[in-house]
Amino acid sequence: MTSIPQRFLSPTAAQLPEAYIASTTRYDQMAFRRAGRSGLLLPAISLGLWQNFGDADPIANSRAVLRRSFDLGVTHFDLANNYGPPQGAAERTFGRIFGADFKGYRDEMVISTKAGYDMWPGPYGEWGSRKYLIASLDQSLQRMGLDYVDVFYSHRPDPETPLEETMGALDHIVRSGRALYVGISNYSPEQTRDASRILRALGTPCLLHQPRYNMFDRHIEEGLLDVLKEEGIGCIVFSPLAQGLLTERYLEGVPADSRAGKAGRFLKPENVNQEIVDRARKLAGLARQRGQSLAQLAVTWILRQPQITSVLIGASRPAQVEELQAGLAYPPLTESELQEIEKFLR
Ligand code: NDP
Repeated sequence: MTSIPQRFLSPTAAQLPEAYIASTTRYDQMAFRRAGRSGLLLPAISLGLWQNFGDADPIANSRAVLRRSFDLGVTHFDLANNYGPPQGAAERTFGRIFGADFKGYRDEMVISTKAGYDMWPGPYGEWGSRKYLIASLDQSLQRMGLDYVDVFYSHRPDPETPLEETMGALDHIVRSGRALYVGISNYSPEQTRDASRILRALGTPCLLHQPRYNMFDRHIEEGLLDVLKEEGIGCIVFSPLAQGLLTERYLEGVPADSRAGKAGRFLKPENVNQEIVDRARKLAGLARQRGQSLAQLAVTWILRQPQITSVLIGASRPAQVEELQAGLAYPPLTESELQEIEKFLR
């Protein structure tokens, strides 16, 4: 039984043995959630390319992760100008794979990128000026081989540039056809409210906020989620697994092939401390009682919030995406399970 009607299948793709043909069941197991008060739906799980898509990462694995994700209904892929290493490498890798495998599926994909962090030397290569944001997006489009992105973000607030200039640049980016929607990332509740009002007045409402959120970092519960609700902005959360700490990966030490085990990553072996491991072990016990893995539980816990549009995972291999997607089939957490989790996090 195929769920995608025959008329949507490409006849030419089937003739090319190397060509990627997306699974016909790709929409059967994925939930889609609305981004704030917008017309755009995002998959409950989206894939980010911050890590694992740099020049040192084998492209065959990157390609396998992207293909498997799309086959499982993950339609949203999140990038930034500086993802790599080196900066720009993840967009280049994505561009190569997109060109080979996904061109025919462009209208089924939501692709985002960002600018805000250090990207090139001199005063025009970071922060939030109109000069930087527009030039950076043009570079990103070139690296990815795209005509437009679906979402373009201001990656971080700029304390020096007037917010009107940064938001004005986002509005221009949409009007010039480079992006369909805009978002902000790492903005405080107050900055978010101000940014949202400026954007709405310009006629380009803010689609998404992208903050960090997981069981170990709940800062968005103290104000940001309320602002997003009031303003009708969606919320896509990054590092939902605390970069892997909210998985079973570190319960018996730091594996050499893990993020904390590899040199030069943001997660360091010293972040894997006894307190974190003890908490992860307790949470893993609760997950097991539900028949879930800890990683799956961490995603279920985030999605308990109706305001969260999507959980933005990272993955170093296809099996991790499979596991997290399979975790969506489990029932929501009960009140007593939620209370138990609260106890473990205190
Ligand atoms: P996660 O918290 O999901 O961490 C991903 C890591 O967790 C993987 O690389 C893998 O580690 C491990 N993992 C994933 N699935 C499993 C599993 N099923 N079992 C065991 N371990 C698993 O997210 P990231 O920190 O990677 O962030 C996700 C995305 O969010 C980024 O790619 C980026 O798009 C975005 N982001 C945005 C930021 C911003 O400022 N806006 C900042 C940071 C991220 P291992 O490599 O050890 O296998």
